[in-house]
Amino acid sequence: MPNPASRPAVIPPRRPPTPASAPATLLAELEPTPPAYVAPADWQGLADAVRSCDRCKLCKTRTNTVFGVGPTDAPLMVIGEGPGAEEDARGEPFVGAAGKLLDEMLKSVGRTRSDNVYIANVVKCRPPGNRDPEADEVAACRPFLDRQIELLKPSLILALGRIAAQRLLGSNAPLSKLRDALHVYGPASTPVRVSYHPAYLLRTPADKRKSWEDLKQVHRALDRR
Ligand code: SF4
Repeated sequence: MPNPASRPAVIPPRRPPTPASAPATLLAELEPTPPAYVAPADWQGLADAVRSCDRCKLCKTRTNTVFGVGPTDAPLMVIGEGPGAEEDARGEPFVGAAGKLLDEMLKSVGRTRSDNVYIANVVKCRPPGNRDPEADEVAACRPFLDRQIELLKPSLILALGRIAAQRLLGSNAPLSKLRDALHVYGPASTPVRVSYHPAYLLRTPADKRKSWEDLKQVHRALDRR
C-alpha cells in the first residue's frame, strides 16, 4: 500500500487529462466521455475511492480492486492494461509468472517494486476472462490513473503491452510503432516509453532481446534525470 504521508495532500483538480501525443479526435473515438469526476487528491483517499468504486461494470465481477504497488516517490512508473486472475485474487498488479518475469527484467536494470518502481494498471478491476478493457471502462477509470501519475510525478512511464500503450496514449498504432518513439503524457509532459507485456514475452521469448533493449533505454533515460 502506498504511503499516503509521503506526498503533499493538495493537488489541483484536473479534467480531462490529455495525452500530449494524441489527437483529440482520436481520443474521443477511443474513449467515450465519462461522467464528471474529480478523484481524491491524496494517496489514501484515492486508494479508498478505488476500493469502493462502481464507476464501470467491472465492479460487478471483480474480487479485489488492484490499486497499485511501490514507493510513492518512485522515478519509474510501470503501467499495464489491467489485472488478471491472480492479480484480482491478490489485489496486487503483475503477480504470477508474468509478474515474476517483470521483476526479473526490472532487477536487471537495478529496479524493484519495493525500492524504486511504482506499478499500476490502466483499469483497476479485472476484465472478465482476461479480455481487453473496453473504452468506457478505461475512460471511467482514467481519473484514478491520472491522479496516481500526478501524485507520483514519475520521471518516466513505461507502458507494457499494446493495450496499455494505446489506451494511455490515445493511439491505435501497432506496438512495433509505439515502441520506436518517445511519447509524452499529460500536462507534465511525462516521457513515456513502450515495451512488450511480460505475458507476451512468456509466449514469445524470441522478443525478450528487444525488451531488454527497451529496458536499457529506460535505464539510460532515468540515469540522466
Ligand atoms: S475499473 Fe476502475 S472505474 Fe471501473 S469499477 Fe474498477 S476502479 Fe472503478
